[in-house]
This record gives sequence, structure tokens and C-alpha cells, in this order.
Amino acid sequence: MQFTIAIDGPAAAGKGTISKAVAAHFGFAHLDTGLLYRAVGAKTLDGTDPVLAAKALIAQDLDGDALRTPEVAQAASKVAVIAEVRAALVDFQRAFARRLGGAVLDGRDIGTVICPNAEAKLFVTASAEVRAERRYLELKNKGLDITLAQVLADVKERDARDMDRAEAPLKPAVDATMIDTSDLSIEAAVLQAVAAIDAARNSGTEA
Ligand code: C5P
Repeated sequence: MQFTIAIDGPAAAGKGTISKAVAAHFGFAHLDTGLLYRAVGAKTLDGTDPVLAAKALIAQDLDGDALRTPEVAQAASKVAVIAEVRAALVDFQRAFARRLGGAVLDGRDIGTVICPNAEAKLFVTASAEVRAERRYLELKNKGLDITLAQVLADVKERDARDMDRAEAPLKPAVDATMIDTSDLSIEAAVLQAVAAIDAARNSGTEA
């Protein structure tokens, strides 16, 4: 059985949490595609060429908490504007999407560019303030010395770069179900996501 769930949206909207919960619910494999760009971004911090880094990426590069810092997030969104970097990462993502047993991919361009024929598509969003607050608490809990204002500026800068780029900009696919998590609990957001995916699965069966 092949079934691809594409989950896109801006930073800290709840994509990761929803994707993991949905993957567990349906028993599907999950790929956080942001990690690919973060791994490439991290390599550029020590001077490696981003295109060469993307072409040479291996599974071990995706491990580790070191990819979860604001510095690496910014580096990721900078390398993500480069067409050749994106092109080098396409095949891996598409192969993952079509693996047997079902797959959930979360990112920015899954429903629009990587898997335009995904059986189910979600676009998860929330206000910039709510997203910054969530990311701030997450980073504080990890012991990072950072202010809410810094995190909000960071989120807005990354949003602008992701939405305004020419190559695979962040935007909802026309057939995506929108989920705004600003005022939703995690449980409520996951329920909405599961309901939308169930609807797509049932319409697929009837077709
Ligand atoms: O999702 P995450 O915050 O880890 O992504 C880091 C950066 O990687 C994003 O800001 C974006 O620029 C880039 N990205 C992308 N396309 C994806 C996933 C992430 O351009 N599918």
C-alpha cells in the first residue's frame, strides 16, 4: 500500500508534532524534511559549499540535537533558496514518499512540489506570535539564552525568506486542508488532521 500524507506550513506551527502523531496513528513512516535543509545548512557553517553538501548528504547527517539551534535554522533557510540544493534533495524525498506502508512528509513544499499527487495534504499554520512563543519555550527548556523578541524576529525573517523565494516558496497547495493551530490544543489539532486524512482515504476508496 502506498499512501503519502504531505504536511506543510511555517516554522513552529505544529507540523512536527502533528506529523509524528499522524504517523503513529496510521502506522506510517515519517520524514521531517526540514532536517535535510538543516543538515546542509549546518555544513555550510564550517565553510562547506551548500550544493556539494546537499549532494553528499547521508542518513547520519540528520541525527543529533545540534541541528535544532536557531543558528542552524537560519542557515537552513538560506541554503533552501538555492535551486541546486533543492534539486539534490528531491529524489530522496520522493522515494521516501512512495515507500510501501505509507509515509508522512512534513516541510514547506511537499504538497506543491515534492509530492503534488499526495493522497492527503495539510497546511498547518498559526500566528507568528503564537509560533514564536512556542519556539521560545522550547528553546528555553533546552537551556538556550534567548529572548521572546529575538525568537519572534527570527521566525518572521525565516517566514519572509521561505515565502518570497523563487524556488518552491512556502504556500498551501490548492487542494490542501488548512489547520490553524493558534487556538487549538495539540489533541484538537491532531484530531482535525486525522479527520482530514480519513476523509481523503475514504474518498480514495470510493473512487
Ligand atoms: O522545518 P524546519 O524549521 O526544520 O526547516 C528549516 C528550514 O528549511 C526552513 O526555514 C526552510 O527554509 C527549509 N525547508 C524547505 N523546504 C522543506 C523543509 C524545510 O525549504 N521542505
